[in-house]
Amino acid sequence: MQKHFIDNQWVDGDSGESISVVDPSIGEAFDHLTRGNAADIHKAVLSARTAYVGAWGAMTAAERGRWLMKLAYKLQDHAEELAQIESRDCGKPLKQARVDASAVVRYFEFYAGAADKLLGHTIPYQNGYTVLTLREPHGVTGHIVPWNYPMQIFGRSVGGALAAGNACVVKPSEDACLSLLRIAELAAEIGFPAGALNIVTGYGHEAGDALVRHVGIDHVSFTGSPTIGQIVVRTAAEHYTPVTLELGGKSPQIVFADADLDAMVPVVVNAIVQNAGQTCSAGSRLLVERSVYEEVIERVSSALNKLSVGPAHMDLDCGPLIRQTQLQRVQSFLAEAHADGLRVAGQGSVVSEAPIGGFYQAPTLLRDVPLMHRLAQQEVFGPVIAAMPFDDEAQAIDMANATEYGLVASVWARDGARQMRMARKVRSGQIFINNYGAGGGIELPFGGVKASGWGREKGFEALYGFTVLKTVSIKHD
Ligand code: NAD
Repeated sequence: MQKHFIDNQWVDGDSGESISVVDPSIGEAFDHLTRGNAADIHKAVLSARTAYVGAWGAMTAAERGRWLMKLAYKLQDHAEELAQIESRDCGKPLKQARVDASAVVRYFEFYAGAADKLLGHTIPYQNGYTVLTLREPHGVTGHIVPWNYPMQIFGRSVGGALAAGNACVVKPSEDACLSLLRIAELAAEIGFPAGALNIVTGYGHEAGDALVRHVGIDHVSFTGSPTIGQIVVRTAAEHYTPVTLELGGKSPQIVFADADLDAMVPVVVNAIVQNAGQTCSAGSRLLVERSVYEEVIERVSSALNKLSVGPAHMDLDCGPLIRQTQLQRVQSFLAEAHADGLRVAGQGSVVSEAPIGGFYQAPTLLRDVPLMHRLAQQEVFGPVIAAMPFDDEAQAIDMANATEYGLVASVWARDGARQMRMARKVRSGQIFINNYGAGGGIELPFGGVKASGWGREKGFEALYGFTVLKTVSIKHD
């Protein structure tokens, strides 16, 4: 049974109730989380506030950076253990969980180095004045984390917030958060300042809602679905609490006839298969110039046909989905596509050793999907690609922009002028030209437009979101 982590200690929940932790590879519970409520959140916010007005808040930026670096080293020493935890909890093939473990180390390393480089400005003003800007922490920040990449999203959000001088309260997902509880314990082992980092587990509508609603929370970083994002914004508005919103996507992979198809195929396949398609930036739409459409469908399909799906410990190309309801959701998209006469062009297979109770879905490519079909518009959050042809650049841009999302896009083309036009005209938080998400992009500002959210995390840019700008005007003559 897992407890909350508050003030560097394991703390029992107020409700005495628990939530089962299910292994998605077999569909059976193997642990329990504490079902947090408003009283638990209140305790964690008090701890964070005490740290913020006390030892943590009094530190210099360089001292904060040193703590983050010590934590990065500690996590590095435990990277394999963390990967094993994440792999079982999320159902990720071990190789993917290992990438996540290295990423959380890198986030803390990156923000450790950034902590004392967050500068203000001096502003030319009237004679006799000196005007400068200060970047100050919000105070106590709340972090709501989804289940698909617990370690990565925790690293980018909490790493940035701590570097900027905030004290944090984290409400991870009820579906997967064991790695984060272990990270908090490792932080305590190195003597990380008490109260700077607190974790309260529980359901979103209970612990999550209480966190957003708490008057002692000065900023909320929410990563999750657009529907819950809207609820969070409405709740946060009651206390005028600023919110960073990292939401969903329907990211287009746009392939022109002059593209290097050999380079494109494995990247486009990985963009939908990684984490079984349960990735905000999953490349879930494949837009292809008509003259190479059949060739691209054939190549991507034959790559998908070779993929194997199975339990996390087998470390295959693709693991299970997170839970039964997620599998049902993905299957409902596929059933509707089938009923509408859409054709499957390529599909991987679930290995015979996959336990019967696991939540397995083979990666699938559907071809000739109409632009406004639900499969081409909504986030499936499973390993399903919707492919469709386009006739020219203008149509590719229109199609790329024709969903409510705008998180990430890729453009595959050799023509340099076209690359630049596409980069400017596709409405998206990130555009990759002839690559997609290589290296995890810890250093690259990330976030969406439209229903994909607002604000930016990752990279140095995130530090601006985790601070408030204060203008100081001094009259000296
Ligand atoms: P979700 O919105 O259901 O849950 C996200 C988090 O919000 C969980 O911790 C949940 O407990 C909490 N929550 C639920 N109701 C709440 C409430 N009323 N108040 C406060 N918190 C509440 O999302 P999910 O299913 O966990 O994750 C999948 C979604 O997250 C997808 O839409 C995906 O695209 C998105 N996502 C976005 C990014 C990004 O960086 N843009 C990254 C990963 C996932």
